Amino acid sequence: MQTNADLNFLEISGLLSGECQELSFERKWALSLEEGGVRTEEVSFSGKMKNLAGDLSLSGTVQSTLVSECARCLAPVSEKLQFEIEVPVVTGETENEDAVPAKGEKVDLLAVAEENLLMRWPMRLLCREDCAGICPKCGQNLNESTCSCDKKEIDPRLEGLADFFK
Ligand SMILES: [Zn+2]
Ligand SMILES: [Zn+2]
Repeated sequence: MQTNADLNFLEISGLLSGECQELSFERKWALSLEEGGVRTEEVSFSGKMKNLAGDLSLSGTVQSTLVSECARCLAPVSEKLQFEIEVPVVTGETENEDAVPAKGEKVDLLAVAEENLLMRWPMRLLCREDCAGICPKCGQNLNESTCSCDKKEIDPRLEGLADFFK
């Protein structure tokens, strides 16, 4: 029986004993990560773990869909995030900070996917590059139509001065 923990890990005893040189994997998790108002509902990681004359490496594609509200107009946005990774895996002590430590004869695939996803996490999402946003005065979504508000921004510190010149 496969438990959730089994789904997170890749069993590598065959690689370590030299029984095989390569292991393929394909995993998908219903993982809800949230950071700065951007969240994900699903993460997948597929690739290969190799043993080349004792050098272990993990490579593959991490994919997820990020959902949020547009940072300017608050419309719902979803964006696909996909990238390739290749990292060395070590079974003992190492000074290589990029290396993934194996836990016994297992590698925590979910932890690798999650860590790399967070490194590429966007600060914010926009519905489109040139989103015009919302009018701060009347709340009109400026992508849909314009409004007649005065768009000249008045610095609150200068407001008194503007009165003075009236
Ligand atoms: Zn927008
Ligand atoms: Zn307006």
